[in-house]
Amino acid sequence: MSSTTSLNAPQVKAMLLIVADAVIAAEPYLSEADRNLGDGDHGLGMARGFNAVKEKLEPLDPSEGIGKLFSTAGMAMISSMGGASGAIFGTLFREGGKALSAAESFDSEGLGKMLHSATEGVMARGKAKPGDKTMIDALHPAAAKAVESAGLPISEALAATAEAAEAGRDASKAMIATLGRAKTLGQASIGHPDAGACSIALILRTMSDFAAAPTAA
Ligand SMILES: [Mg+2]
Repeated sequence: MSSTTSLNAPQVKAMLLIVADAVIAAEPYLSEADRNLGDGDHGLGMARGFNAVKEKLEPLDPSEGIGKLFSTAGMAMISSMGGASGAIFGTLFREGGKALSAAESFDSEGLGKMLHSATEGVMARGKAKPGDKTMIDALHPAAAKAVESAGLPISEALAATAEAAEAGRDASKAMIATLGRAKTLGQASIGHPDAGACSIALILRTMSDFAAAPTAA
């Protein structure tokens, strides 16, 4: 397979729309992951948020810029999802968009910057740190891997980043929740991955699959 150096703005728009479809299709999986540890509303909240993302992104001209595409997605989530997940996942995309505001293409440096700022923004907002059994347990190692992958083709950087997110999601199974959806379960939270970490891994894996064979001009 040949590697993709970077994605242009129309490709980033296409990628975000495919991510939206993947999250919407994963609603039963994400709901079940939340039901195991929380109130089971995560899948529906994410589906609602990403339906709003599609509505706002479809009419957006990609020439407005890569940062604008991510920020628009973030704002759509913040205004539609409600709850902690809306604020947190919305912040992730909005902070990521700010970090890419001057970017003309989406490359591995941009990915690192985006995930680094997004992680800082989400940690500041949600007060979670690695090990609390939240989405940070997938996002934090993914961001570290993305920063380390700067300079690689975007397809390779995203593949490594998605793998780090999946390893983080799997590692969250063994953690005891101290914050977030399962904090009242204590020891009983062991054995299941955090639903937000499942969402992060899904989003990054879908981005990686897109970058491996990008569509759109
Ligand atoms: Mg929930």
